Amino acid sequence: MTANLTTKPILVWFRQDLRLRDHPALTHAVQSGRPVIAFYVFDTDPQQRPMGAASQWWLNRSLGSLSNDLAALGASLVLRKGQAGEVVKALVQETGAEAVVWNRLYEPGATARDTQLKAALKDLGLEVTSFNGALLNEPWTVATGSGGPYKVFTPYWRAARAKVTATSALPAPAQILSPDNWPASDRLNDWGLHPTKPDWSKGFDDWQPGEAGAQARLDDFLAGPANAYAEGRDQPGKLGTSRLSPHLHFGELSPRQVWLAAQMASHQGDLDDSARDKFLAEIGWREFNHHLLFHFPHIATQNFKPGFDGFGWLTDETGLKAWQAGLTGYPMVDAGMRELWATGWMHNRVRMIVASFLIKHLLIHWREGEAWFWDTLLDADLANNAAGWQWTAGTGADASPYFRIFNPFSQGEKFDPKGAYIRRWIPELAGLPDKLIHRPWEASSLELRAAGINLGATYPKPIIDHSLARNRALEAYGRLKTLHTDEVP
Ligand SMILES: Cc1cc2nc3c(=O)[nH]c(=O)nc-3n(C[C@H](O)[C@H](O)[C@H](O)COP(=O)(O)OP(=O)(O)OC[C@H]3O[C@@H](n4cnc5c(N)ncnc54)[C@H](O)[C@@H]3O)c2cc1C
Repeated sequence: MTANLTTKPILVWFRQDLRLRDHPALTHAVQSGRPVIAFYVFDTDPQQRPMGAASQWWLNRSLGSLSNDLAALGASLVLRKGQAGEVVKALVQETGAEAVVWNRLYEPGATARDTQLKAALKDLGLEVTSFNGALLNEPWTVATGSGGPYKVFTPYWRAARAKVTATSALPAPAQILSPDNWPASDRLNDWGLHPTKPDWSKGFDDWQPGEAGAQARLDDFLAGPANAYAEGRDQPGKLGTSRLSPHLHFGELSPRQVWLAAQMASHQGDLDDSARDKFLAEIGWREFNHHLLFHFPHIATQNFKPGFDGFGWLTDETGLKAWQAGLTGYPMVDAGMRELWATGWMHNRVRMIVASFLIKHLLIHWREGEAWFWDTLLDADLANNAAGWQWTAGTGADASPYFRIFNPFSQGEKFDPKGAYIRRWIPELAGLPDKLIHRPWEASSLELRAAGINLGATYPKPIIDHSLARNRALEAYGRLKTLHTDEVP
């Protein structure tokens, strides 16, 4: 369907909302009766953090999927590369658009840019409207009794949960009015988002980026593992969690859709209320992390608790490389790092174990781990990643206390007692009996030989002794405490 010649178009800027359903900005644009031009900008603004390599892989597929979904409605997705603010202004000029809409982001760089851009476009006489498409509650709508932001999850979620009013999600538009002329678009393939030379993404093929894949994941989860979520979510050897994180990060599904689907499943008697609540509380952590990042933007790069600023981090290139490659000699750590490299995702329990190992066993700054995750995770998300790392380090809001040092082998024995996870990701240890699989260094030479292992050759010996590392971390924290008794809890 094309537009009346006199009607000027409305631009819909897609960002982390790569879907057609429950997309308030798109719905608004369609309902405005104007021809709609949907576009995506691959941002090269040096003020914004560049997307990591794994995220670029996802983006490539997700944009392809969104383009196809729009094409089915007779519309196009215009692709442009450049400094986002400048690209939007250029598109307004080229198309003669009289309105621009988008769904809001909450990251410090994005909010600063969007605020400036909104003002500049309004000065040019355009109608500019933004919407909430990414959170159940926007960060400024949930406040403590004294009006400030929450810093502790439990009271935050109690207050935030009670405010969720979602009763239905917006449908995808039935049709989209096209402009007389489409502005030029880059070709997605020319952006080079898919890795070549080498193509390290072969293990990502189980993922189905895009709105249909996101919906299928949600349906499969609710029909399957959701009921056993409370226990299943801590067992990395099983498919116990939803694996919705990249879909949620790229906005192929809104948290409102997830909330409504979980409520519906429990209403129909298909999902136990306690499993539903546990699962929704994790969506709550996502909300909480966005709330924190919005109110305390420095936490993307700086300690939430400044008392940790003088901590004596070590520079240890060899340790960092061994950690990244999954060659620390601690099976649970290595399995996690290899799962991450191979699939672009890592189980939450294991994320905590590998993060604790880097920070506390190796005394390497959490920012190094955050940066590696940023590049290798398909769900890399500024708010969730920084909060996850700071939670583990003890430097964050409502963080795990600094003296909690995960023991990588007892964690493995507790959450992967049969070693299913280890055998999957470290096949060279598969022949060890369950009781030794998390601590191969305790196996006798006979047991090692029987399992085909030459410790130190086919699989590394631990790069650091656990007790020694634990004591060293506690001493380092102890020294900090005496320096800043009033700031380190
Ligand atoms: C060091 C560290 C780094 C992390 N980095 C990221 C990241 O970059 N991106 C990211 O999305 N998550 C991150 N997490 C949080 C968590 O590990 C993932 O969200 C989760 O493993 C995703 O798997 P899932 O979709 O199967 O989760 P489910 O258990 O099925 O949970 C459903 C959804 O809730 C949200 N969620 C679950 N757990 C958390 C959590 N602890 N914090 C915030 N949101 C949560 C996610 O959106 C997830 O998709 C990190 C955690 C740690 C400890």
